[in-house]
Amino acid sequence: MAMAMRGKGVGMATQVAQDFLDGNDLAGAARELFVMDVTTATGRCTGCGLLSRIGETHVYDRAPGIVVRCPACDNVLMRLVRAPGRAWLDLSGMSCLEFVLPVD
Ligand SMILES: [Zn+2]
Repeated sequence: MAMAMRGKGVGMATQVAQDFLDGNDLAGAARELFVMDVTTATGRCTGCGLLSRIGETHVYDRAPGIVVRCPACDNVLMRLVRAPGRAWLDLSGMSCLEFVLPVD
């Protein structure tokens, strides 16, 4: 579990436990569907328009599936549910997903 430090000055900091993982933790679960590393792709949030690398998002994995949220507005960007023999991927929270490809 990731920890964040919040506070206004030295000695005033308070440790706050976060209930999400870093977006880079999505790599293993998404590797099965995406041949390329999805954490290096860039997506635009439909909630606030933020363009961010998937690796910079907030990943919640304590649900029936994996939920990826925007780090700025908390909009659900992606849902990934895996069951034996199938997977469901909902990308409706992103207006685009851009992958950088190697130059031929
Ligand atoms: Zn957003």
